[in-house]
Amino acid sequence: MQIEWPEKALRECERADIYKNNVFEPQERAILLERARCLAALGRKKEAARCCDDSLYAFQGRNDDWAGKIAELLKELKGDVGELEPIWKSGAEVRKFPEKYSIYLVPVGTAETSFLEAVAAQVRPLLGARVKICAPVPIPEHLERIKDSTDYSAANLMSQLLRDCLIPEDAVFVVLYANVGMRPPGRALLSRMYVPRTERNPFLLNCISKMWQPERAMARQLVALLRYAYVDHSKAKYNENWDLPYDTCCETFTCVFSAYAGDEAQAVRLDMCPACQEEYKKANYDKMHNDLMEYLKKAGAKIVSAEKK
Ligand SMILES: [Zn+2]
Repeated sequence: MQIEWPEKALRECERADIYKNNVFEPQERAILLERARCLAALGRKKEAARCCDDSLYAFQGRNDDWAGKIAELLKELKGDVGELEPIWKSGAEVRKFPEKYSIYLVPVGTAETSFLEAVAAQVRPLLGARVKICAPVPIPEHLERIKDSTDYSAANLMSQLLRDCLIPEDAVFVVLYANVGMRPPGRALLSRMYVPRTERNPFLLNCISKMWQPERAMARQLVALLRYAYVDHSKAKYNENWDLPYDTCCETFTCVFSAYAGDEAQAVRLDMCPACQEEYKKANYDKMHNDLMEYLKKAGAKIVSAEKK
């Protein structure tokens, strides 16, 4: 298929999965190089340079032909537009996290508190927030299977877990972590990530995540999850047993809120793109706190007084 260059080719590049997907393959480096070339040909040289710069950031450590070609084009573009302005900011640089609130991580089953402490240590400076570890909760003995499926009901699992949780009253965001797939004795493995929803916000608060990723990737995931508590997801396509609604992720692929995750997220930024910075400025922490408390009380979790630290 012949695609007219550069306008139509640019549109094709921007429709490519890289902006939606969480898989980085060599052909995606080729698409990013082509996108930068199209932008440059259209006289949008700063955007072209930015595209190259982001690509090199994301592909750190993979010095193949594509990376070499992207670096070459970036050098050439910098000759025209000069050095790029810094645009990336962490949450803490964008706004002050309200002092009256904390983020809590809940170890489920045999999840190691020491690992969660290491994740929390990475997240604290990123958000300028208190991030604390709650008392662990056990894996429920009896899980309810979804009708005609090998999966278990996420909502049911979450409600069982929440009944055993002790959540301090200053919580604004809570994430549950397991280090194994959940398996009641003698039954099939349950190993997905679970995000329960409420009527007001389908992705309000919690997620059970396997702890198989390195700390930095887990820290990134935690920051990315926070966005689900303040962005309106009422139009997102979701299913109670899906991971996350990838169709509402940031399309700037190196942004902390992009869908790009996994082991390779070691090379992905933990800070926000300019559009996400604007969105984060508007995050309503009071509403998040109120919604969370309402949800937790309804779920039967015990709200306890916060330790003063
Ligand atoms: Zn973004």
